[in-house]
Amino acid sequence: MPIIPYGRQDINQADIDAVAAVLRSDFLTQGPVVPAFEKSVADYCGAGFAVAVNSATSALHIACLALGVGKGDVVWTSPITFVASANCALYCGADVDFVDIDPVTYNLSAERLAEKLALADKSGRLPKVVIPVHLCGQSCNMVDIHALSQRYGFKVIEDASHSTGGKYKGEPIGNCCYSDITVFSFHPVKITTAGEGGMALTNDVQLAKRMRLLRSHGITSDVADMIPRSPAELWNYQQVALGFNYRMTDIHAALGLNQMQRLDEFVAKRHAIAERYDELLKELPLTTPWQHPDSYSAYHLYVIRLKLDGNTKTQQKAYESLRASGILVNLHYIPVYRQPYYAGLGFKEGLCPEAEQYYAEAISLPMYPALNEAQQDLVITTLRKATNT
Ligand SMILES: *Cc1c(COP(=O)(O)O)cnc(C)c1O
Repeated sequence: MPIIPYGRQDINQADIDAVAAVLRSDFLTQGPVVPAFEKSVADYCGAGFAVAVNSATSALHIACLALGVGKGDVVWTSPITFVASANCALYCGADVDFVDIDPVTYNLSAERLAEKLALADKSGRLPKVVIPVHLCGQSCNMVDIHALSQRYGFKVIEDASHSTGGKYKGEPIGNCCYSDITVFSFHPVKITTAGEGGMALTNDVQLAKRMRLLRSHGITSDVADMIPRSPAELWNYQQVALGFNYRMTDIHAALGLNQMQRLDEFVAKRHAIAERYDELLKELPLTTPWQHPDSYSAYHLYVIRLKLDGNTKTQQKAYESLRASGILVNLHYIPVYRQPYYAGLGFKEGLCPEAEQYYAEAISLPMYPALNEAQQDLVITTLRKATNT
């Protein structure tokens, strides 16, 4: 039985050669390749600064810290995201809350955000940071979210883990025109990979500096950043903040950097696959992903919403029958607040009705650049059977 995963990296000989070259070089970490990768991504996006780290989760954490998130603060994000988008606030000792999704794009809804902000303003508990997530690779309504951030004084971190290579209003996601910081992921299922890795982009030199410090223990060896001490003592470096070891290695950066060459090609292939799905799924009882005209999605995911009767045909049965046939569909995502850990923090089922409805219908079909037409046809025939019995 052929196994078709929902996502998969695409590695070529040049990627392998780039990694091997680092292994033969003088530096495995903190060498020249990490800054080259940072420059490549910053230039691609048109952002001022890029800080590479060992995962997008780490990037979200230091992004929150750089924006001053701490105890007593609240961070808002979408319930339909990977848990890391919310966990980063908890790492900082802050509280987290969720803004319901838009029923058409499945992204954090700017309308629900505006309503929730008006209420929070009255009760004096405005968020310090809002983290919109570009679900499946399609940008959130950043113009409205940015306007709300100006009005209510919160900061914005774009979780763009799904959208490396995507565009919003014709410009690259990651240019931080509507946010303080944008975060990318280079996990193997994402658009490009570094094995593991993440990056935080910003146009603010102070935020970039702070994130660089936090990524490496809070240690600086730049005399200008050190606390003056007796010249009689040797201070080759100082720890001036409590940071982490979140560094990316040159081995990972070499893969990430080389993959940048094929980023546009990967996204174009994903679009071709999405268009073919759109066409071939027309007759099935499901909704294909709607695309906003402002958006050029990176198409990390192709999420369908099943329109089944709920008695004989259910999302769960369709999901299980596809997986039993080797089509390893997935679910992105269970609302974060429904996770047992979050339930333990007091979050209740039903908090975000649109998110719950989405959760009851969504399935992610296989989507990756090397998915060929025969495999895609197999996905569709299997799906047809799974929704027809
Ligand atoms: C993958 C992902 C992350 C975490 O990325 P890592 O690089 O694996 O830490 C964060 N947010 C979203 C939306 C993701 O999909």
